[in-house]
Amino acid sequence: MGQITLKAVRKSFGEVHVIPGVDLEIADGEFVVFVGPSGCGKSTLLRLIAGLEDTSAGQIMIDGKDATALPPARRGLAMVFQSYALYPHMTVRKNIAFPLKMAGLSEAEQAKKVDAAAAVLNLTAYLDRRPGQLSGGQRQRVAIGRAIVREPSAFLFDEPLSNLDAALRVTMRQEISELHQTLKTTMIYVTHDQVEAMTMADKIVVLNAGRIEQVGSPLDLYRAPDNLFVAGFIGSPK
Ligand code: ADP
Ligand code: MG
Repeated sequence: MGQITLKAVRKSFGEVHVIPGVDLEIADGEFVVFVGPSGCGKSTLLRLIAGLEDTSAGQIMIDGKDATALPPARRGLAMVFQSYALYPHMTVRKNIAFPLKMAGLSEAEQAKKVDAAAAVLNLTAYLDRRPGQLSGGQRQRVAIGRAIVREPSAFLFDEPLSNLDAALRVTMRQEISELHQTLKTTMIYVTHDQVEAMTMADKIVVLNAGRIEQVGSPLDLYRAPDNLFVAGFIGSPK
């Protein structure tokens, strides 16, 4: 579970070749960070994996099965959106339960899964509140909770912390890393922030203009960058 392979994946929007060709292996349980400058195709690559965009060519395998043509709901993955994607009029409980309700689970089954996710995320005391009554960090945890209840084989994060202040980003970074240690589920995390990449990743994928410049552990990339782009990007934290 949580094993994802991209084979010669390409994506064009009209005449624009946003992803000219990507091959990538993600192992079960890995914490993989896609990093690169704004506009390099990180979100597009993640959306291709999620099934929110169709590939122009190539193949996406998930857990040994060809998922290239599967709709998002049948890929067994969960995308974690920024916390502003929460429903403001619903309680935390209802926000987290939403995907389970859509899937037709009974109230009792929903409650069981929501309570378990809330316990992992330290949200048990906040289940009856609405998003407007929570801190930014708590709201982000609710957004993660909505992904956890679906028990995905991988979590996909697209710059989930980019609208939080600097101090809270550090806290949430640690919380997401701890969550990965607890759940041991594959996570793919997109960021343009080198520090986030270096501190969170098992494996960093450095992207530049829709191509992979290098794949390796933070230490690999720091010690032995393949080229000046990787050296400049990894070696100059903000
Ligand atoms: P990143 O997430 O790394 O900032 P994106 O994947 O969002 O980059 O975008 C990569 C490139 O693809 C950008 O040049 C962007 O303008 C272009 N792009 C993204 N989505 C679309 C779209 N739906 N239609 C046309 N161009 C797009
Ligand atoms: Mg993006």
